[in-house]
Amino acid sequence: MVARPMVDTAINPDTGLPRRVVIREVGPRDGFQNEPELIPTDDKIALIEQLAATGVPRMELTSFVRADVVPQLADGPEVLARVELPAGLERSVIVPNPRGLDLALANSEHFDDVNVFLSASESHNRANVNRSVAESLAGLVPMLARIADAGLRPRASISTAFGCPYEGTVPVERVAEISEALLDAGAVDLNLADTTGMANPVTVKRLFVTLLERFGERAELTAHFHNTRGQGLANVVAALEVGVTSFDSSFGELGGCPVPPGATGNIATEDLVSLLHEMGVETGIDLDSMIAASAAVQRILGRRLTSHTLVSGPVDWH
Ligand code: ZN
Repeated sequence: MVARPMVDTAINPDTGLPRRVVIREVGPRDGFQNEPELIPTDDKIALIEQLAATGVPRMELTSFVRADVVPQLADGPEVLARVELPAGLERSVIVPNPRGLDLALANSEHFDDVNVFLSASESHNRANVNRSVAESLAGLVPMLARIADAGLRPRASISTAFGCPYEGTVPVERVAEISEALLDAGAVDLNLADTTGMANPVTVKRLFVTLLERFGERAELTAHFHNTRGQGLANVVAALEVGVTSFDSSFGELGGCPVPPGATGNIATEDLVSLLHEMGVETGIDLDSMIAASAAVQRILGRRLTSHTLVSGPVDWH
């Protein structure tokens, strides 16, 4: 497996917050997948290269899904083959099933991590992949092993970890059980996703305190928040306060989840970076360059995007 550089997770005594966090830009997958328009391949490549130039350390580049199901990402292999990225950028892809993993492994020279996923709640998992959670877990075990055997980093995402649109509250103990099963199957990173924007700072702290205590030594725990109800950045602060140092976000606030229909909105990378920098938390990302990347995708999509920092610009004291 590809070694990952150590992340400095020291706490700043002035703020009680981590000095530095790691951001994964998920717009090229989570964002582009959920756009109604097809973004031309050349534009995708230019946007990904522009994002990489902001200094973002990790990026999710595409998903290996059936072209008839997700036509937005049908050009994934071509994007991966043509895009030119700086050495050291950690590149990930997502796969929904063994067939997707076959396709991914045929292109594996172009990325470092492979992400698999399931939902913490039975109803959302059924709606998404038409299987029970236990059936999904059983299917992921051999996939995680194949990813590790290919010399890639196995990651796992748990959707609806903070609440389900059909079932409401998802018990912390349920998420912990699923987490343990994924770690036992070889996952080295766990991604806790608030898929439909149901988390609040209290539930964020409750889940991450439990998971960090039990699994913090075994895996990196990443927070993937959506801004569906405007609580995304409040949830980031809550996660920071209990020691989470890895976050997903999407430039321009692109992306979301197709189930249920209309649920949209990852937290915007530029809003996240602006917040973190103002609180003295380093990201390694140049905020002006990130805003420029969001402005570029806004031009390509031809509609106004909703990120606050894109609309307002960065803080200007003059
Ligand atoms: Zn998302």
